[in-house]
Amino acid sequence: MKLFDSHTHVQFSAYDNDREEVIKRAREAGVKMICVGTQFSTSEAGIKLAEKYPDDIWASVGFHPNHAVSEGWHHDPDEQSEARPEKFDSDQLEKLALNPKVVAIGECGLDYYRIRNDELGIKNKQKEVFLAQAEIAQKLNKALMIHCRSSVLKSPEGKSIKTDDAYEDLFNLMTNNQLPITKVIHFFAGSLEIAKKLLNAGCYFTFGGVITFTRDYDEAIKYLPLDRILLETDAPYVAPEPYRGKRNEPAYVVEVAKKMAEFKGVSLEKVAEATTQNNLTIFRLSDIV
Ligand SMILES: [Zn+2]
Repeated sequence: MKLFDSHTHVQFSAYDNDREEVIKRAREAGVKMICVGTQFSTSEAGIKLAEKYPDDIWASVGFHPNHAVSEGWHHDPDEQSEARPEKFDSDQLEKLALNPKVVAIGECGLDYYRIRNDELGIKNKQKEVFLAQAEIAQKLNKALMIHCRSSVLKSPEGKSIKTDDAYEDLFNLMTNNQLPITKVIHFFAGSLEIAKKLLNAGCYFTFGGVITFTRDYDEAIKYLPLDRILLETDAPYVAPEPYRGKRNEPAYVVEVAKKMAEFKGVSLEKVAEATTQNNLTIFRLSDIV
């Protein structure tokens, strides 16, 4: 059985001590992967891995919205052991994207989770950096790997209330700019309503470990057709059951596939086959089958 981890970060510092072992376990499990960059350094590191494992790894190069602005730049030690803030440069990214192992641009998009709702300057900058990457994807005819995370409001009783604010802005950006590119919404975490709108706008959706332990996305997963769904780990983050709380890794994508098979009422093999085919189509990997 062949499986695809469509969004993973094995180039991150979380794997500095055992990266080769982690990749070996994935290959033994029949898992191929797209190694996704979050700024230049992590994008370049992803390309290096893709070159080293040409039959199993491909790269996506991009600038994450948390890195797209110098205000609120977010350092995560699992991503890079030391903080290395970089400035977005469209020409530099385009040069990286010319590498034949690069099959997508991103992750790029909007992240309102870490900012205040009135920080319009940051939101506008994120939009500008996202659109610059969408242009590169269009110019080079590659898919766009989108990260989108909405803000969470607190009720007076202290309860968390989910919103679709970043997804709504993303939808408007797509519609207003008529982006005729293949769009993949990674780690979809919006409502059923926004899922319907994005599906009609031609988007694909990736789901990861979170679907094995929360029920928040059940409706959207059941609604979306299997030919628009991809599986991911987003490793090292959000490991699926039964590994919840541990460091995630690409081999665990099989747990996500099992859960997807349950949702769709089909066999694990059927999910593996359909999602692998989606990867071949979206990232144009026809040379590997
Ligand atoms: Zn990611």
